[in-house]
Amino acid sequence: MSFFAYKGGEMHAEGVALAVIAAQVGTPFYCYSAGALRAGWQEFADAIKGMKASVAYAMKANSNLAVIRLFGEMGAGADIVSVGEMKRALAAGIPAQRIIYSGVGKKPSELMAALEAGVGQINVESSAELETLNAVAGQLGLKADITIRVNPDVDAKTHAKITTGRKENKFGIDIDLAREAFALAGRLPNLNVVGVAMHIGSQLTSLTPYRDAIVRVRELIGQLREDGHSIERFDIGGGLGIVYADEKPPSIAEFMAVVARETEGLGCELSFEPGRRLVGEAGVLVGEVILVKPGSAKTFVIVDAAMNDLIRPTLYEAWHDILPVRQPRPDAATIRCDIVGPICESGDFLAQNRDLPPLVAGDLVMVRSAGAYGAVMASSYNSRPLAPEVMVDGTRFAVTRPRPTVEDMISAERLPPWMEPKKA
Ligand SMILES: *Cc1c(COP(=O)(O)O)cnc(C)c1O
Repeated sequence: MSFFAYKGGEMHAEGVALAVIAAQVGTPFYCYSAGALRAGWQEFADAIKGMKASVAYAMKANSNLAVIRLFGEMGAGADIVSVGEMKRALAAGIPAQRIIYSGVGKKPSELMAALEAGVGQINVESSAELETLNAVAGQLGLKADITIRVNPDVDAKTHAKITTGRKENKFGIDIDLAREAFALAGRLPNLNVVGVAMHIGSQLTSLTPYRDAIVRVRELIGQLREDGHSIERFDIGGGLGIVYADEKPPSIAEFMAVVARETEGLGCELSFEPGRRLVGEAGVLVGEVILVKPGSAKTFVIVDAAMNDLIRPTLYEAWHDILPVRQPRPDAATIRCDIVGPICESGDFLAQNRDLPPLVAGDLVMVRSAGAYGAVMASSYNSRPLAPEVMVDGTRFAVTRPRPTVEDMISAERLPPWMEPKKA
């Protein structure tokens, strides 16, 4: 079932017309479907039934409090990459024990905050971090439950900026050096090594890299046990892809079948850290056409949503489907156009060379599959206020992050005292 669909000629999110939201909150705005979020979660919950496994939502994909709360209420943990995210997860009601702290460069102060809050697991990515965490845990008189993230050196066959499991990527400990790192961890008195973690990349649409990586880590787990480590957990990470254009990502059931087969008899509790897969298709970005500028090479449709709202096309060459919010007639002619924002950068585009029915000023357009790495990567470049976020649930909707005013933005800044405006 599609949670975003035309009804009576108007694009709806579940039971709410996007035009109704636009009239109330203005454009641009992000819109998330609670039904789609729940359906995504349910797919994971069904697939792990009967397995010793848990799912921690990788909240960097979309850290809106309402989104985290929704997953938390359904039983999700949270995979975090900063103390800011930890505070958000706790504020959304995720129990600390269900939080996994990932990331390649955690500061001592952040590790301390995480231990004080009682996060369930810290995934360590270097020998230096093992030493730092051991020292911090010692200061607090605690023992930290950790996994070591290994880099299995597999090619996830995804965009270069979102592949993480190759030797040349900064993430994890080279699998060939992992035994030394575990030996070090075993000697450090304030660390309790509970398992191994991996995360090989994002927007993976093939199961082969997962299978290859699990086979390698499984072999490592055997060696680590021979070395005397008790490896109880295997954190498989996230990375499952979604549909932007014509990708055919595997179902979660297919993914779990491969994981279950490759980990059979291993005796590890499994954890998963999906981000994009849980939220990507559950969100859209809606903008309004400001003007249409015909050129001799192509037509530019200039909308009020821009690269500061959604940077994925610029940063990852990402292709997002764009649809008019008012349903075009089936026989409508199309024109070749670029959908661009008003920002002073040639890289400011949402889509290039698209065939869309003619649009005019005031028309609304919807950018599909914008729920992941959209609002969280937004900036206020060009002093554009962050786009608000809206959640729809059935026939209800609510603004879950309002649009700041420019006055709010300005008043957050300070002039140095020597620049105070002179009193008259
Ligand atoms: C980003 C990240 C994830 C989530 O990745 P998705 O591709 O959004 O599923 C999971 N685990 C770690 C360690 C990450 O850095």
